[in-house]
Amino acid sequence: MDAATVCEGCAGRFAAIDGPLHDYLTVSAGCWARFGQALAMHYSDHRYWPAHQLLTDAYVLQHSRGNDRRSIQSVHVHLAALYAQLCLGHAEPRSIALRRALAEFDFKPLSKAWPIPRRSIETVELAPPEQHLPAVKDYAWSVLEDWEPFHDLAERICRV
Ligand SMILES: [Zn+2]
Repeated sequence: MDAATVCEGCAGRFAAIDGPLHDYLTVSAGCWARFGQALAMHYSDHRYWPAHQLLTDAYVLQHSRGNDRRSIQSVHVHLAALYAQLCLGHAEPRSIALRRALAEFDFKPLSKAWPIPRRSIETVELAPPEQHLPAVKDYAWSVLEDWEPFHDLAERICRV
């Protein structure tokens, strides 16, 4: 059996590889590599693109656990963007505009305990597109459900 590590952000188990990490996202190298694989697919084949915003928002939200300004900014922006897409039905241009508008905000650290992640990107089929798209949707919903105690916050942020 291959050695595995548990990712601190999403609690998923990934192969213990030696690979790059992110500057401020709380990721294991294996988890970050899998997200990178998904992004590479999104950028190389337009059939995957409809999954791109959702996967990015859900993934970055799960992994923005640091206490520095960039992480605090990131958790708020991606929570709001995920909520806007799934609960308010915002289409891609509107959620991109929301993210841009929020980039200027100065957010405070979260006031409630960090949600326990129930699902990781490890469970998201990477290919083919007809499996990837619904898998990303399920994953994104599951992440948003974990964040239920923060939905009122998301709702407020989305009103900017
Ligand atoms: Zn992870």
